[in-house]
Amino acid sequence: MRIVRTISETRAALADLRAEQRCVGLVATMGALHAGHISLVRAARAACDAVVATIFVNPTQFGPNEDFSKYPRTFEADCALLEAESVDLLFAPEPAEMYPEGSSTMVEVEGISDRLDGQSRPGHFRGVATVVAKLFNIVGPDKAFFGQKDAAQVAILRRMVRDLNFPLEIVVCPIVRDPGGLALSSRNRYLSPENRQAALALHRALQRIEARVAAGASDAATLVDAGRAVLAEVPAVRLDYLRIIDPDTLEDLPDIRLGALIALAAWVGSARLIDNLVIPPAQQATTTSA
Ligand code: AMP
Repeated sequence: MRIVRTISETRAALADLRAEQRCVGLVATMGALHAGHISLVRAARAACDAVVATIFVNPTQFGPNEDFSKYPRTFEADCALLEAESVDLLFAPEPAEMYPEGSSTMVEVEGISDRLDGQSRPGHFRGVATVVAKLFNIVGPDKAFFGQKDAAQVAILRRMVRDLNFPLEIVVCPIVRDPGGLALSSRNRYLSPENRQAALALHRALQRIEARVAAGASDAATLVDAGRAVLAEVPAVRLDYLRIIDPDTLEDLPDIRLGALIALAAWVGSARLIDNLVIPPAQQATTTSA
């Protein structure tokens, strides 16, 4: 695996890769890699001829009082993991390479960027859209792999790709969880053993909602209440939002019959965690006879 730090080296390396390889896959990360990230790399490896990974803790997507400076940075271990997955190229720039003095252009996906985490973290998705647009321009991938775990991010990036005519396909990969059901996240490193246990309530809340849907409930307010009740049992969990929304527009839905995304965010200790569940459109009722 070749490791490059600058945009010009990345472009030169890509020109070499493209000379022999047809399909280039991109996996963009902030490092502190875990099995969720690796699942994206494997999906890219399976679908593409060359895999480019990036590690960049993007300052523009962090608010002033957020965890930018203490975000986990585990570069050596990350490189070993990517190397073991036969990644071809790792682009790991410094902030000054991505945002040189005088940078003033940002990408704003209007409306949708103010919902969910965009509401709780003003400017977050502006930073995400900007850095991903830059990475698309630098790497020029044919396919870009993102995790369903960040469902709002997926909706915003899909819209950006469509609106700005990026010639690439976004591939979304399923959420990878630990055996207890906790969605893997670099921020899980902030959890004490007790808080890790408490954080399992997030997945339990989604499972409770899923069970209610399976039992025939479809009203969003009722389902939100069912999920909230699970979280309320665990004092260490401080809910930010639990919403039932359209996965493309992130707007609230009154019921889940046409399909829905159930998304939540909560603080557990100093960690802000997110999770979600996709409810497919209801099957038409069928009558079976023996
Ligand atoms: P991050 O390093 O947190 O910016 O994440 C980089 C990519 O990995 C994003 O596309 C995330 O959605 C994805 N990702 C993070 N956690 C998981 C997970 N548990 N399962 C699947 N994908 C994930």
